[in-house]
Amino acid sequence: MAAAPSTGTAAGIPDYIGQEARFGARNYAPVPVVVDRALDCLVWDVEGREYIDMMSAYSAVSHGHLHPRLVAAAQRQLARVAVTSRAYYGTTLGPFLEKLSEVTGFERALPMNTGAEAVETAIKCARRWGHRVKGIVDGRQQILVARGNFHGRTSTIIGFSSEAGYRVGFGPFADGFQHFDFGDMESIKAAATADTCAVLIEPIQGEAGVLLPPPGFFLQLRVWCTENNVLLIDDEVQAGLGRTGKWFAFEHEGIRPDALILGKALGGGLLPVSAFVADAAVMDVFTPNSHGSTFGGNALAAAVALEGLRVLEDEKLVERSAELGAYLIARLREVQAEVRPLIRDVRGRGLWVGVDIDPACTTARDLVERLAAAGVLSKETHDTVIRFAPPLTISHELVDRAVETFRRVAHESHRKLGLATIPPTPEHVAA
Ligand SMILES: *Cc1c(COP(=O)(O)O)cnc(C)c1O
Repeated sequence: MAAAPSTGTAAGIPDYIGQEARFGARNYAPVPVVVDRALDCLVWDVEGREYIDMMSAYSAVSHGHLHPRLVAAAQRQLARVAVTSRAYYGTTLGPFLEKLSEVTGFERALPMNTGAEAVETAIKCARRWGHRVKGIVDGRQQILVARGNFHGRTSTIIGFSSEAGYRVGFGPFADGFQHFDFGDMESIKAAATADTCAVLIEPIQGEAGVLLPPPGFFLQLRVWCTENNVLLIDDEVQAGLGRTGKWFAFEHEGIRPDALILGKALGGGLLPVSAFVADAAVMDVFTPNSHGSTFGGNALAAAVALEGLRVLEDEKLVERSAELGAYLIARLREVQAEVRPLIRDVRGRGLWVGVDIDPACTTARDLVERLAAAGVLSKETHDTVIRFAPPLTISHELVDRAVETFRRVAHESHRKLGLATIPPTPEHVAA
């Protein structure tokens, strides 16, 4: 086993972990690694130990840490102007919005900062569209949301989470949301009423464990939404901008939603930048004073986000995600076959992979901590799934290094549990 995780308590190093625990709210349970610096796909802790970043801040660092073109774009803009609020026009917001329209294929975008704010924007837009365009009585609009969803942490959004930990003790919750089962058209039909204005959905449920929709589900949903005059709002805060091996995950489904929510990677790993994106017929329900954000679309954020979109194109990061993601999944499936029954499933799209651990063997968190101690950063979701989502800039060589480390850690756990090593069957090797 490699060195123990950094605690920040070695001689001469301040107790950073203790400091966060003492002076911070305790709303996180971080993996005990104190990150001091990072470059592209590598991260170093305060004691100089190197890690491969297989997490990339939940896709916020899809471009890799401190991409030189993004740092340069930020520095250029920092020599001019950073924040003015939307009380005035600027020289970077227009170019950013035009580029966003070009890459998404939608006519307009409304920039915000965090993903949750862009989701809130979508909710407001859907409700006003439901009233003004569809003719639903104001206050009666309903939005359909999937069980197992993750759309952020505001009080409205957690009100329609199905995860007890996000909700308990935080009521009362906003009305106007109905649940359906992800991937199940019948449950959508059962939940809908004449007051339904939108379906808000992730194309792949990330937080729920990297759950892919059943084939054909989104096509059926698209048809149903059109027939019933319901907006299909696609939350690609995590899935978008190349993560799944296409620019947007909806392209895998052969559909076009009515609106798109982006965040995380949109900020190029430097800043919080999000956007709600739609055609004019939907977006134009927003009029002056109806919505806004002091920092949303600020000059610095727009300059960085614009450069981020160009980098995705110029460096063909979307294509890389498809290629390296297929490679990563294939390699992880080799490990799965070697350590059965420790790993129940390896699934994903592009560089977004969930490794599902059999809870009878161990927890995902246990393996995540062992991996960190061995130099690979990942993150668990729920008790059973390890998420691997490295920067889209990752190389074959680093994928190999990360998988070899995972293989060692998985075999070690497997041995400790006294599980018999089952030789891979042809069926497993083929899968
Ligand atoms: C992360 C995430 C959000 C919330 O984004 P924040 O920037 O954390 O507010 C919303 N939707 C999805 C699908 C996400 O993954």
